[in-house]
Amino acid sequence: MEMHAANPTRVNILGVPVDVVDLESAVEIVRGCLERCGRLRIVAINPEKVMAVRRGALDIGDLATAELLIPDGIGVVGAVRMLYGLGISRVTGVDLMHEICKLAATGGYSVYLLGATEEVNARAASNLERMYPELRIAGRHHGYFGHATDEIVNDINASGADILFVALGSPRQERWIFENSGRLGPRIIQGVGGTLDTIAGFVKRAPAFVQRIHLEWLYRLIRDPRRVRRQIVLPLFALNVVRERVQRAFANN
Ligand code: UDP
Repeated sequence: MEMHAANPTRVNILGVPVDVVDLESAVEIVRGCLERCGRLRIVAINPEKVMAVRRGALDIGDLATAELLIPDGIGVVGAVRMLYGLGISRVTGVDLMHEICKLAATGGYSVYLLGATEEVNARAASNLERMYPELRIAGRHHGYFGHATDEIVNDINASGADILFVALGSPRQERWIFENSGRLGPRIIQGVGGTLDTIAGFVKRAPAFVQRIHLEWLYRLIRDPRRVRRQIVLPLFALNVVRERVQRAFANN
């Protein structure tokens, strides 16, 4: 375990760093950062991403430079418990995004929404405005801009947004954030995956009781069987975590 600037504790899951935070402490980190005029890149860590790093599809060097790596997904929470004996709870990207929108609405910070189709992006923006009437959306752009990154960066910077949500899917959005964060104006940048689709109402989250019993992944799989291609890595992830646990037990004996 090591200390990290933006957060209390950072642990390592199969070679991938993740921060031991809950929703409340993650929100406090964001609030502190906004008040101190600091900068924060927030990336969600889930088993799919851990396996993407292991496959070489996501650069671990870049990932480790993110100031806040939230434990998204019950697989990561279980792995932290099994490998470190730490009881943490899940911090989903969508929950944290809502909390950041609340902070922005009350603190007078503006946001920019980047990603998803034009229809989803526009609908998500108007839903957020309805949910948080004080929220100022400084700008927005769909996520199918090809190689026009310079134009997008200019548009984001010209908007003067304090907070940027990037919803380009993984690992595209992580790569995009790390490649461009040095020239982006917004001080808080969060990679939010498919969250705009959820906020737009095109993708439904599982009912609360299904979330409580940790079966949201199964609900999403049943609603969208194409996800099986992504979720196929989950048993592999679990197997690797158990193997690491056993290896550590032997190493300690
Ligand atoms: N997306 C995008 N540009 C692209 C590819 C994808 O904006 O070139 C958007 C897509 O419309 C969707 C999101 O990225 O809103 C991908 O969501 P997915 O569920 O694949 O991401 P995850 O939740 O796994 O990060």
